[in-house]
Amino acid sequence: MSAQHFQIAIVGSGFAGSLLAMMAHRLGLATVLIERGRHPRFVIGESSTPLANLLLEEIAVEYDLPFVRPLCKWGTWQRQFPQLACGLKRGFTFYHHEFGKPFITDAGHRNQLLVGASPNEAIADTHWYRPDFDHYLVTQARSLGVGYLDETVLVAARESTTGMHLTGTRRDEPVEIAAEFVIDATGPRGFLHRALGLPEKRFAAFPSTQGLFSHFQNVGALPQHFSTPGSTPPYPPEQAAVHHVFPGGWVWVLKFNNGITSAGVAATDDVAEELQFNSGEPAWQRLLKRLPSLAEVFKSANPVMPFIHSPRLAFQTAMVTGSRWALLPSAAGFVDPLLSTGFPLTLLGVQRMGAVLKLGWHHSGFPQQLNDYAESTALELETTSRLVGALYATMNRFELFKELSLLYFAAASYSETVRRLGRPERATGFLLCRHPVFATQLQRICASAHEPPSSDSLNVLRQRICEAIEPLDVAGLTDRSRDPWYPALASDLSRNAGKVKASENEIRVMLARCGLRQH
Ligand SMILES: Cc1cc2nc3c(=O)[nH]c(=O)nc-3n(C[C@H](O)[C@H](O)[C@H](O)COP(=O)(O)OP(=O)(O)OC[C@H]3O[C@@H](n4cnc5c(N)ncnc54)[C@H](O)[C@@H]3O)c2cc1C
Repeated sequence: MSAQHFQIAIVGSGFAGSLLAMMAHRLGLATVLIERGRHPRFVIGESSTPLANLLLEEIAVEYDLPFVRPLCKWGTWQRQFPQLACGLKRGFTFYHHEFGKPFITDAGHRNQLLVGASPNEAIADTHWYRPDFDHYLVTQARSLGVGYLDETVLVAARESTTGMHLTGTRRDEPVEIAAEFVIDATGPRGFLHRALGLPEKRFAAFPSTQGLFSHFQNVGALPQHFSTPGSTPPYPPEQAAVHHVFPGGWVWVLKFNNGITSAGVAATDDVAEELQFNSGEPAWQRLLKRLPSLAEVFKSANPVMPFIHSPRLAFQTAMVTGSRWALLPSAAGFVDPLLSTGFPLTLLGVQRMGAVLKLGWHHSGFPQQLNDYAESTALELETTSRLVGALYATMNRFELFKELSLLYFAAASYSETVRRLGRPERATGFLLCRHPVFATQLQRICASAHEPPSSDSLNVLRQRICEAIEPLDVAGLTDRSRDPWYPALASDLSRNAGKVKASENEIRVMLARCGLRQH
């Protein structure tokens, strides 16, 4: 059998694979996209963030993909693609539970954290209903002219001096593909990781965790005792990625506009083994018994698909690139769904890989650029694991958990702002992992979070967190009077123009451009 020849083969047609295939096509490269399954199909990973949507928009503009742009905001999505299901996401909502006790909020909302991401619905973020979202993107890629092979099971990859040879079967017929460069977009422990036998390595400061999740119908609203009469939260708390945190884990609840709710739990091995996550739905029911207020939300809910148990959520490969192949960040590693870091990490990688492809593998600078890509991917994953690891360590100390999560919100809002101002070089890696000062502070603070608590450790850490984020805080996160309800206010950006080295007028222009009204 003779091989089909392409310049680029991208394996895996999730949103990342399809986007990158369209980008490669726009760069004039003969591209094939290879998928094991068939769209539309279920895949987990749904909640977007302001930074993720901004990166998606940047990619759509740079690579002339106008049909992607409406998907970057709730308002345009609803106007232009009402047939594609999604969920409205105005922010990040956290509730802290104790096992066996109902959730009761107090006047100061101490067991809550609400961080607004958008001041109105029009420019809000979304939860991507992936069967629709990914199907749409792959359809667009095909109409642009990207070659597409679905239902293709690749079994081997061989590297040669001129490229890569991939072999497998498509609908029981043998398939052989020769490509000058191969990009793996198949997710954690994916195709190249297995085919090339790449080594796996552990994150330095992250516990072993497991996941259990499904899609549901008839999920109820949060009961009355989640709200405080007489006080108005910064956004409707359920129009968000809702996190129910408990010692050793957390539950996500993401509502789509088609009656489906995505929900699942990520927890340490101790919790997962005690509840027997490997038993599927019975474990979910056992968890709900321990979280009576969440049980109320799910009392009439029924799963629309079998539960999926992920026995090991976190993953990191020790090799991200070879001379003729590269793994996208989502194939190179995964930390945890907490804080929805998967999409921005993936899209940063997609964007960087676009720049690598632009240079081309015949260019003398290519090996260095590929190496830089690998280093950034590994550093961003490691930094994410430090922060999320610190959050796991403090799930039984919610006051500290809240403070630590502000590190994420500060870095993300700063990065978003400087990018929107056209100064992406100031957004030095995800979570500002290359920032000369913040990166070290984040690392030290996260390490301290693992230390045994003492009477003054909360205050000391709180002070250090405040010092770390204050110089970057463009979102009012250091304004103690707001704690723990942080609205998204355009006025914060104007007031903090100096922190992003912008004039008030530049901020005004940016706000108008982004659809954020000046308050
Ligand atoms: C439980 C969980 C919850 C998450 N929640 C969030 C969240 O809320 N927000 C967020 O930002 N991130 C989240 N993530 C991370 C998110 O899932 C990923 O960042 C995202 O899916 C990456 O997209 P992708 O297109 O690269 O890969 P994927 O979405 O994993 O798509 C991979 C594609 O490759 C195909 N494939 C797999 N193997 C092969 C093969 N051998 N050959 C050919 N094709 C193959 C698959 O069928 C699939 O179509 C979550 C992850 C998990 C595990």
